Amino acid sequence: MKLQDISLPSPIHSVRYKDYTWDMKRDDLIHPYISGNKWRKLKYILQDAQQQNKNHLVSFGGAYSNHLVALAYAGYLYQVQTTAFVRGDEMLQNDQLDFCKRHQMRIIQVSREAYRDKETLYQKHYSNDPLTYYVDEGGMNLHALPGCAEILDEFTETYDHIFLACGTGTTFAGIVNACQAKNISTHVHGVVVLKTSKDIFLTTQSIFQNINRNYPHYTLHDNYHCGGYAKKNESLLQAINLFHEQNPGLQVEPVYTGKVLLALIDLMDRQLLSPSSKILMIHTGGIFPK
Ligand SMILES: *Cc1c(COP(=O)(O)O)cnc(C)c1O
Repeated sequence: MKLQDISLPSPIHSVRYKDYTWDMKRDDLIHPYISGNKWRKLKYILQDAQQQNKNHLVSFGGAYSNHLVALAYAGYLYQVQTTAFVRGDEMLQNDQLDFCKRHQMRIIQVSREAYRDKETLYQKHYSNDPLTYYVDEGGMNLHALPGCAEILDEFTETYDHIFLACGTGTTFAGIVNACQAKNISTHVHGVVVLKTSKDIFLTTQSIFQNINRNYPHYTLHDNYHCGGYAKKNESLLQAINLFHEQNPGLQVEPVYTGKVLLALIDLMDRQLLSPSSKILMIHTGGIFPK
């Protein structure tokens, strides 16, 4: 495996917001393109594919998918072929897709309708191809969990609370599992960026079957999505702006990490979270370099 481009362990920096301070795990610094949790998720997926002698990873996403950017670059680094089914009814063209194509990812655009049944799409194109490996949207895969769990091995102290964004919930599941396995009582807060957390449990059922639902140390916060996936509102944008002013050189974006920021400061403002507890926010990346 060629690992020289991946920078681990990622640093932990102290950040500020108004009078609050907490730690931030800078997974956004792991790699400019295989950023944040995307490397954590892909690491053992790539290994599993390799062990099964598969040389072609096939995945799915929207036109701005951080996962597809990461997959394209990882495929390019490890000399594995990549293909993506990209959802969209209109002509799709943007920096992310251009980047994917430049790194030899084959893009197959499909309608939103067809996209809904990813398994069928895959079967239609690849049922007779023994060399392809299926990677679900967002890198959701059982083999993604151990890589996400490894974040905990990089901590130098035990936190009272960990906050992170939940898209498919895969990263969250990996971390909750790891806390449980290590028998530490860190409370893990998943900030759901989609409209309902039910979506998460539906789309990631197989992943969540691995979580003990009676485990008392996790919370899914489903009231900070600001209207749904990639939706924004004034308080979100204000929080991000102030955070940028107070933490030069650090960037959060409104789709994932900005919503985690919003949850954290709201819980502290409402004194549901003590600012004196040891808090860590995971910066899961998501900033496409200009
Ligand atoms: C993909 C992504 C997530 C979502 O991770 P899941 O494991 O799907 O919950 C969170 N943050 C950023 C920046 C992402 O790109």
